[in-house]
Amino acid sequence: MWPNGARCVVAITVDFDGRSNEAGKGLAPLGIHAAGRYSARRGVHRHLRLLERQGIPATFFVPGYDARTAPEVVRDIVQAGHEIGAHGYKHEGMLLPSDEEERRLILSHQILGDLVGSAPVGWRSPSGQKTSTTLRVLRSLGYLYDSSDKDFDMPYLLNFSDGRDPMVEIPNNTLSLNDTPWYNVSMTPSSEVEAQWKAEFDEIHANRGFFLLTYHPRAGFGSGTPARAAAISGLIDHIKLHRDVAFVTLAQLCDWVRGRPEEYEEVTV
Ligand SMILES: [Zn+2]
Repeated sequence: MWPNGARCVVAITVDFDGRSNEAGKGLAPLGIHAAGRYSARRGVHRHLRLLERQGIPATFFVPGYDARTAPEVVRDIVQAGHEIGAHGYKHEGMLLPSDEEERRLILSHQILGDLVGSAPVGWRSPSGQKTSTTLRVLRSLGYLYDSSDKDFDMPYLLNFSDGRDPMVEIPNNTLSLNDTPWYNVSMTPSSEVEAQWKAEFDEIHANRGFFLLTYHPRAGFGSGTPARAAAISGLIDHIKLHRDVAFVTLAQLCDWVRGRPEEYEEVTV
């Protein structure tokens, strides 16, 4: 079922969520609203060092606005060998009119493609919002996968009713395998968050499943700061105790699923 005969596949995904998050809400990045700036100034590089020490690849989802305001940081992510996916322009957390949504999808696509040197193949919705426009535009831009939905615990194929080539949906678990609810809602200490993530991994591994973690390298609601970054590292240490695990980027996982469509569920959109 998984690459290299692995029992369980693991994807580490990092949503950049820098200044774009506040800018999209019309907030100046000052004082309490400066937590997004931490991503570009500290958090991303802390996590690049962590991932290098661990020797594993990750997928970074980057809003176009953050790529435009911190291009050197995005270049460093690419230089380190990680995948770049698109994540809105100003981290739009609201539903937009169809033409404006399309304009922003194209804008971010162009910014990231110009900066990275190759077009992103994956997209994740900022704040989880999608409309009937989203996949149509993404498909026309050549995207191969979306990682926004919450409706399944395995990747699956997105077939288009008009017969265009399918995309792959790589769902994410926004609650227990995402840092924001723990640090922004329940205010859980990082040691307990790490224990929760390990418990999720153990169950998924036992069931030959797919483990996808999402975190944010920012201050405030994210994991950019030292002890919270250490919780990520502790989780990876735990996962690596299992020798039958494959660490993959989402682009690699997408390729894997597209190569054996008969093994995965299909949904027509
Ligand atoms: Zn985000």
